[in-house]
Amino acid sequence: MTQKIQPQPGIMEIALYVGGASKVEGVSDAVKLSSNENPYGAGDPAKEAFLRAVHDLHRYPSTDHADLRQAIASHHGLDPARVICGVGSDEVLQWICQAYAGPGDEVLFTEHGFGMYRICAHAAGATPVEVEETERTTDVDKLIAGLSERTKIVFIANPNNPTGTMIGGAQVARLADALPEGALLVLDGAYAEYVQGFDGGAGLVDARSNVVMTRTFSKIYGLGGLRIGWGYGPQEIVDVLNRIRQPFNLSNAQLAAATAAMNDQAHVIKSRTDNARLRDWLAKALADHGVPSDPSHANFILARFDSREEAQDCDAYLKSRGLIVRQVAGYNLPNCLRITVGDESACRRVAHAIGQFKAGERA
Ligand SMILES: *Cc1c(COP(=O)(O)O)cnc(C)c1O
Repeated sequence: MTQKIQPQPGIMEIALYVGGASKVEGVSDAVKLSSNENPYGAGDPAKEAFLRAVHDLHRYPSTDHADLRQAIASHHGLDPARVICGVGSDEVLQWICQAYAGPGDEVLFTEHGFGMYRICAHAAGATPVEVEETERTTDVDKLIAGLSERTKIVFIANPNNPTGTMIGGAQVARLADALPEGALLVLDGAYAEYVQGFDGGAGLVDARSNVVMTRTFSKIYGLGGLRIGWGYGPQEIVDVLNRIRQPFNLSNAQLAAATAAMNDQAHVIKSRTDNARLRDWLAKALADHGVPSDPSHANFILARFDSREEAQDCDAYLKSRGLIVRQVAGYNLPNCLRITVGDESACRRVAHAIGQFKAGERA
């Protein structure tokens, strides 16, 4: 008798991740504002380090990532032994689920939370539990009400994607205090660098035994194509994650570029400053055209339209103008479009096109 070959529980529940579009048929100068990428790309030191790595293609990379962890720790004032580096922060999120959640366990996140939380929970065979937000903002009271003795992991991104909203440190600490014993709070700081002076939750990690922070080189560092992220947590937890990390998970090129990028904070500062200025300009321009958004703390704006239909029509209109933004119906935000803050000309183009769309609708 042959038995049907079956995947592990949860795996068939995973809906395939849909990335931001990058092309428009028949348009050659399309501007991609759909994946929260740094419009200036990576900094020169990172690019040069990547090029130099060509001479080491035959060499296995470091397994302990000592140089990169040291660069991260020095810049952020952290203990390098408690830093762990992954193939994007996505890999760190995946280890956390694999290590700490399984069948019968619950993984909490909010209704507009990042899509990887659900995917990682299912991949581990755990039960994803979605909690409501309030006005597109993480609501700690609702998260606390959603906790149970089966909760093993709570994920929040702060600032969150795709809403751009953020909650304060006291709220986050209150959530950490409320977790049942044996549960872990994961603070996803993918956009933390866009918030001047924000530590992404590192202070809370140091002060507690049940908090882990994840960070990435994909956003402000402009290295999304290279796939590097990291986590910071209590030593016991980092030691566990290191057991399931593949020894050669990061290549020489990834390690060299990320280390150079971390040591090139001028690029981060320029990117943050320009982003803040253009983001505020874009939000105001859209509001003037009758398209509101919540104050964003990240490198994108969540533009709200009157209906799902209007959001879809505007998306199609922008596409016809070579402007690619992100539909977020999959994040329970059907009447919204997420627009990455591009360079100055991209911001002007998208604001102008949305103004034309709104005027045409009224005409
Ligand atoms: C982009 C993003 C990440 C980063 O993913 P990488 O795997 O590091 O590229 C993580 N969390 C959120 C909320 C994001 O938007």
